[in-house]
Amino acid sequence: MVQHRFLFLTYPTQGHINPALQLAKRLIRTTGAHVTYVISLYAYRRIVNGSTPNGLTYAPYSDGFNDGFKFSDDVDHYMSELRRAGSQVITDLVASSAKEGHPYTCLVYTILLPWAADLARELHLPSVLAWIQAATLFDVYYYYLSGYKDLIRESFCTDTNDPSCSIQLPGLPLDLASRDLPSFMLAANPYNFALPLFEKQFELLQRETKPIILVNTFDALEPEALKAIDKYNLIGIGPLIPSAFLDRKDPSDMSFGGDLFQKSMDSSCIEWLNSKPEGSVIYVSFGSVSALSKDQMEEIAKGLLDYGRPFLWVIREKEERNGQYNEAEKEEEKLSCREELEDLGKMVLWCSQLEVLSNPSLGCFVTHCGWNSSMESLVSGVPVVAFPLWTDQRTNAKLIEDTWKTGVRVAPNEEGIVVGEELKRCLELVMGSEEIGEEF
Ligand code: UDP
Repeated sequence: MVQHRFLFLTYPTQGHINPALQLAKRLIRTTGAHVTYVISLYAYRRIVNGSTPNGLTYAPYSDGFNDGFKFSDDVDHYMSELRRAGSQVITDLVASSAKEGHPYTCLVYTILLPWAADLARELHLPSVLAWIQAATLFDVYYYYLSGYKDLIRESFCTDTNDPSCSIQLPGLPLDLASRDLPSFMLAANPYNFALPLFEKQFELLQRETKPIILVNTFDALEPEALKAIDKYNLIGIGPLIPSAFLDRKDPSDMSFGGDLFQKSMDSSCIEWLNSKPEGSVIYVSFGSVSALSKDQMEEIAKGLLDYGRPFLWVIREKEERNGQYNEAEKEEEKLSCREELEDLGKMVLWCSQLEVLSNPSLGCFVTHCGWNSSMESLVSGVPVVAFPLWTDQRTNAKLIEDTWKTGVRVAPNEEGIVVGEELKRCLELVMGSEEIGEEF
């Protein structure tokens, strides 16, 4: 058997790094392959606090954003620097490994980096796209970019209860309303960089005959979506989740091993979870990128307090996103009912989500429906209050509520805010509305 040497390249955010690391570990464990993970210096410096599995090495490179990309930065400049610096390091690695007599055999790259496929072709290196979103999303983007754009856009309207405001796409067993489609397709989408990257990706895939695409899903979860488009060979390779939380074939594989944030979850937090009755705790997290307005946070706080059950709420530090963040701003961001919240629940900056979700005390996951979180909720058997914000999360929420039927989706008001009462309503649907006893 060929001893494969893979180059991995991903966009440097948690939702991309976690599944990539899991795929790398699996390739190493099952085939004895070697993986070199090409990663931005920003991510590398944060990740290497963890242990690096045998067979994996990192190739860090500076994209000029060594403190990470901030939403206030120029995204087009960032993407072009990522491309320039990433292309250089891959070119150098391919040349040096060939010279040393153990050339790389394949480049595995994730979404938003279509240039990687172009580069691999130039370097005569086979490459494969690891699609780290749902297969359904692959299909929806394909259709949008292959003649269905007008039809999809015509289906957009605000009345989500009007059936004429939804669309069915070939091979997909879903009625998709505008609220279910990726936000990048909306006319009002402010992130103009994204759609052209998907467009370029599909343009490159079109040039190949029935290309293989590795998808972080599994056959039983999205049987139709994996087969919907004949000209692609979508292969479900998921869920890309550490073995200890999945099939337990490798109990030592207990974490993704690539956290970008410092965990504030200590043993007292686990003890706290352990002290709660089975199925009683609400876990609230909006992932690693999205940020909520102060008003929205206050409404969530209201909903949690009104509902009255214990909760663990991940509130990432704001300075992670804004760089400059002074004490006065920190004070302003403080939730008005902080003390009551601390009496009832716990707020942490970051946690080991899989450990939390697999704790028997968990009763519900209020999630932004990032694809990793969506699958982690499924694997852990924790029902969901789906609280999607943008990008693919809207489609994932649709799958959770209508296809898998493992959760209930919140309805924002006209200003786009999910009010406390609405969150409470959804929590009651998922966890029940009986009076709670003293033990909570
Ligand atoms: N995560 C975590 N601790 C947290 C919050 C999130 O370990 O406190 C992990 C979570 O388990 C998931 C990833 O971060 O694997 C987030 O990916 P997802 O696709 O859900 O959302 P994104 O961050 O990309 O919006």
